[in-house]
Amino acid sequence: MATDCWINETLYPAWGQRFRVTRELARVRSAFQDIGIFETETHGRIMVLDGVIQITERDEFVYQEMLTHVPLLAHGAAENILIIGAGDGGVLRRVLLHTTVRRAVMVEIDGEVIRLSKKFLPRIAGDAWTDFRAEVIVGDGIDYVKRAPDAAFDVIIVDSTDPIGVGEVLFTDEFYRNCARILTPRGLVVNQCGVPFMQADELRDTSIRRRDFFPHVTAYVIAVPTYIGGFMTLGWAAKDALLSTVTVDVIRARAEKAGILGTTQYWTPEIHHGAFNLPPYIARHLAAG
Ligand code: SAM
Repeated sequence: MATDCWINETLYPAWGQRFRVTRELARVRSAFQDIGIFETETHGRIMVLDGVIQITERDEFVYQEMLTHVPLLAHGAAENILIIGAGDGGVLRRVLLHTTVRRAVMVEIDGEVIRLSKKFLPRIAGDAWTDFRAEVIVGDGIDYVKRAPDAAFDVIIVDSTDPIGVGEVLFTDEFYRNCARILTPRGLVVNQCGVPFMQADELRDTSIRRRDFFPHVTAYVIAVPTYIGGFMTLGWAAKDALLSTVTVDVIRARAEKAGILGTTQYWTPEIHHGAFNLPPYIARHLAAG
């Protein structure tokens, strides 16, 4: 039955998307943000934070697979992973699919996002929450990286909200300086870097900033239907310039060894390799630095 209840995304004042809602599952004001979880006619269950679409059951696989498998397989020997944000648990689940991973620490500032995701979005995380290799911490990512020991992690995955509100600190010099310190010599950090068709500043400004702490800064693209505006960019900052150029054959062999082949709906070794070929309208924001 069609209802006249719609959720309108508020990310861009003059352009957006809306979902027809069949049921409101949760609407909570936490200490950090407004959290909404809704059943929709077209995209399964969706999470909205401060009016911005964070994740939908229907297309979350695109984002989680590419934010996780690309850095881990590019590194090739990643055992200790730090995840910041990602309160829905989707990144944690993909990280733990890698049999080569020994420890995955997830630092999410808002415990309410975790609680509501466990209750209303259980398919996103699956049984990742109880995996013996997982350590889930409720806290601010900026504080965690400040206190973490040197060379403690091989990969850092930042799955945060945009650089407004609580997410803003995850796009700062202090944050990237500490990321560089707590990464191992071949370590790298990836982060959601917005949709450059509408948020070019996010890619340009953070790439300039990351260059002060990492010798190799670039980005790769993914197509997430509900992150409107065309390609989303995932920022890439690595200590080893070769990681973003690993060949398709090497990626496939590593995926085989890690147990990833055949588990994905978007990532493939060819998509992984091709994602670093940026259209000029995006590449120019990286060169701007
Ligand atoms: N995939 C989504 C996107 O690209 O916009 C992000 C989803 S995830 C739900 C974003 C998470 O980042 C939220 O749960 C939010 O609470 C968390 N977050 C924001 N700022 C944070 C911080 N400083 N430290 C840790 N987590 C943070």
